[in-house]
Amino acid sequence: MIQIPISRPHVTDAEKKAVMEVLDSGMLVQGPRTAQFETAFAEMCGVRHAIAVSSGTTALHLALLACEIGPGDEVITTPFTFIASANAILFVGARPVFVDIDPVTLNIDPALIEAAVTPRTRAIMPVHLYGQMCDMDQIEAVAARHGLKIIEDACQAVQATYHGKKAGSFGIGAFSFYATKNMMTGEGGMITTNDDCAAEKCRMLRQHGMKQRYIHESLGYNFRMTDIQAAIGLVQLDRLPAFTAGRQANAAFYNETIQSVQTPRAKEPCGHVWHQYTVQINHGRDRDAAVSRLNERGIGTGIYYPVPVHQQQSMREIAGDIRLPVAEQMAGTVFSLPVYPQLTREELEIIASEVNQL
Ligand SMILES: *Cc1c(COP(=O)(O)O)cnc(C)c1O
Repeated sequence: MIQIPISRPHVTDAEKKAVMEVLDSGMLVQGPRTAQFETAFAEMCGVRHAIAVSSGTTALHLALLACEIGPGDEVITTPFTFIASANAILFVGARPVFVDIDPVTLNIDPALIEAAVTPRTRAIMPVHLYGQMCDMDQIEAVAARHGLKIIEDACQAVQATYHGKKAGSFGIGAFSFYATKNMMTGEGGMITTNDDCAAEKCRMLRQHGMKQRYIHESLGYNFRMTDIQAAIGLVQLDRLPAFTAGRQANAAFYNETIQSVQTPRAKEPCGHVWHQYTVQINHGRDRDAAVSRLNERGIGTGIYYPVPVHQQQSMREIAGDIRLPVAEQMAGTVFSLPVYPQLTREELEIIASEVNQL
């Protein structure tokens, strides 16, 4: 029987060769490959600075610190995301304020943000879920009216666009290169910004607050990227346009072929990069039964996310007893299908056919 996993890192001889070169070079950490990767990534995003770090989580953490967000501050974000988005807000001592999501895009509902602004609000953290950007026109308008920073969780949205402008170029951006992301380095992350001062802070904070060698200007962390990761990242970045085109073609195939569940649509003016292809089970049907059946037939699925962040055990006290009905409903109705670029036409047809037989 066929076995199609929900995700599969795309590694070729080029990545292996690049890693071997680093191992032979004697420069293993935050060296020339990391610098090259940063330059290439900044260029791809259309920003002045890219700062490589150890993960998407540490990118978010430093982005918040670079915006000088800390205890007593509030950051508005979505409950329908990987918990790292909200955890990063907690790491700096601030409070995440959860706003419900749009039932079509599953991104933060921009119409609900303004009502959540208080005198303590310092920033909005939109999460570009599944590879589709949030409604940045409305988010930028609210941010401008209230003097708020924008910290984009672009971990699922490398190369995604809004009005043709790249994710990570609207405020300060955080990317992840975890193994299952659209481009990967095993673990790894990147911060993007046009703000020279924020970039400088991130560069220092990722290495113990160090500006010159062994001169420490502030408390910092070890959030460095290795050149082994950066070497993989450089190859993956070269291949990214092909990866993205492959995901878009696969999503287009599903959109034409799948009828039994509600399929996702790219919304104008977004360039969707399909980190996940996430469908919604029709009203009154059992999502978990559908997923089990697909898994029995050898088709990997994912549920992103089964419990909204405000209802996670670790977040209950912080979030309080709030109801976010759309996020709570979606947690029970969504599931994702394999959409990565290595899928063959035959595999896509099998998946679509199995889904249509649900
Ligand atoms: C993957 C991801 C993160 C965290 O990235 P890591 O590299 O795993 O730390 C944060 N937010 C979102 C939305 C993600 O998908």
